[in-house]
Amino acid sequence: MRRKIVAGNWKMNNNMSQTNSLIDSVIKKINFDTNCEVYLSPSFPFLKDAKIKCNSSNVKVLAQNVSHHEKGALTGDVSCDMLQSIEISSVIIGHSERRTIFKENDQLLLSKIELCVKNNLEVFFCVGEDLQARNSNDEFSVIEDQLNKTIFNLPEINPEKLVIAYEPVWAIGTGLTAKPSQAQEMHNFIREKFKNKYSKSISDNLPIIYGGSVKPESAKDIFDQSDVDGGLIGGASLNPDDFIEIIKSI
Ligand code: PEP
Repeated sequence: MRRKIVAGNWKMNNNMSQTNSLIDSVIKKINFDTNCEVYLSPSFPFLKDAKIKCNSSNVKVLAQNVSHHEKGALTGDVSCDMLQSIEISSVIIGHSERRTIFKENDQLLLSKIELCVKNNLEVFFCVGEDLQARNSNDEFSVIEDQLNKTIFNLPEINPEKLVIAYEPVWAIGTGLTAKPSQAQEMHNFIREKFKNKYSKSISDNLPIIYGGSVKPESAKDIFDQSDVDGGLIGGASLNPDDFIEIIKSI
C-alpha cells in the first residue's frame, strides 16, 4: 500500500516560541490512530529543536530547502551534510516560491535532487503549472517538461525516498483549490509518466501529494481521489486545529 502523507510547510512564518508551541500543539492533538505520516517544516534555525521535540512522537521534520552544492562559499546556504548532522533526513525541493522568487531553474533543482540522493535524504519534489499554462491547456506539457528536466535524469529512483507534490501555482496561497477531478487527472498523468520512465512497481509505490490552498473543508474530496496520497499544506498548517482536521480527512 502506498504511503499516505500530510506535510505542513510553515514557510517564513513563526519565531522560535511560536514554532515550539505550534509543534507542541500538533503533537498533542495527534492523539488518534492514523496511517498518515505527518511532517512539519519549520524554518532552518528551528529544525534541530523541532527534531528533538518530535522524537517523542511519530511526527517527522522536513527542511524547506537545501543547497545545490556540498559545501563552500555559498553565503546563506545550508548543505545536505548540515541537515543530516542534526538528523533531518527529508527536504522540500522545487517549491514554486523557490522557482519564481529565487529563480531556481530545473538544472539547479536537478543538482539539489542528485545531492539529496547521494546523501540519502528523502526528497519532496514540487511540480506545478502557473495560471497562464492552465488557461491555455498547457498544464500537462508543463509538468512533463518539469519532470523531464529534473527527476527523470536520475537513472533510477527509490519510491521510499521520493514524494512528488503536485502544486498548481495558481492554487498556492490564493484560496483557489484545484477541483478534485483536476488533481486526480494530473496525479494520474504523473503516475503514468513514472511508470513509462521507470516501472509499474515504482509508479504504484510513489506517493504523489497535492498542494494548493487545501483547507479542512476541501481536504477530504481531494484526498479521496485514487491517485492523491495526501497533501502539502501551507496556510492551513499554521493553525493546529485546521491541520489536524486535514490529517483526519485521509
Ligand atoms: C504550499 O506553499 O506548498 C502551499 C500548498 O500553500 P497553501 O496551502 O497556503 O496554498
